[in-house]
Formats: sequence, structure tokens, C-alpha cells
Amino acid sequence: MTNEENDCVFCKIVRGEMPCHKIWEDENFLAFADANPVVEDHTLVIPKKHFSSLSDINEEICCGYIGAIKETGKILVKKCNADGFNVALNNGEAAGQVVNHVHFHIHPRKKGDGLKLSFK
Ligand code: 5GP
Ligand code: ZN
Repeated sequence: MTNEENDCVFCKIVRGEMPCHKIWEDENFLAFADANPVVEDHTLVIPKKHFSSLSDINEEICCGYIGAIKETGKILVKKCNADGFNVALNNGEAAGQVVNHVHFHIHPRKKGDGLKLSFK
């Protein structure tokens, strides 16, 4: 294990060293509730293997990632009776990435919830 993997909070969650509220997982991916949700049921989808950003993921993860997001979105829509969801990725520090283990954010949405995406 590299030092980066050892210190990474999301790798710690994958290894079971830190708790999470698990939404879905398969062999390669894990979806869990964000610790500081900006909307109800804000969820993160990560590869279980450590990659710093989307720019670093390998072919296998690249091919499977959309399926993992789709599966998680389906579960969230059912769980929170949502009408849709936003998918967001902050790729790199300049784009607002804080945790250096690639992760997609999923924000469940309801019709007329009034939420607006913002790049202020
Ligand atoms: P970023 O700005 O890197 O795209 O977002 C990182 C996200 O990870 C934030 O929404 C933050 O709340 C979430 N986060 C950071 N540390 C933890 C943690 O230890 N557990 C969980 N569940 N979420 C975390
Ligand atoms: Zn990691």
C-alpha cells in the first residue's frame, strides 16, 4: 500500500477503518452517504481502488463507472422518492476537489425543489 492509500479517507472507508452509510457496492465500486450533505441523501460513488482523479482511472474502472452511477441513482430515486438526480465531479484542486480519491457526487432531486447548480 502506498502512503497516499494509507492516509486516504475514502480508502480507509473501503478498508473498513472508518464507518460509512453504505448505499450500494459491487466488486469494484462503493456508494456511500456524504458526511456533509448539500441535499438530502447526497451520495458519493468511488472506485474501491485508489485513483486520485478521473484523469488517472484505468480502463476497467472507466468502463464500469457509469454503470455504478446508474445503479446508485436508481436506488436513490427509489429510496427518497426522487424524480431525478444530478451527477457532479470536481476533478482536480482547481475544480474544487478536496478528497484526492476520485468520487462522483449524486444529488437526488424532486420536481419543484427549487435547488440550483451554481459555480459562484
Ligand atoms: P470534493 O470537494 O472533493 O468533490 O468533495 C469531497 C466530499 O467528501 C465532500 O462532499 C465531503 O463532505 C465528503 N467527505 C469528506 N470526508 C468524508 C468522510 O470521511 N466520510 C464521508 N462519508 N464523506 C466525506
Ligand atoms: Zn483512496
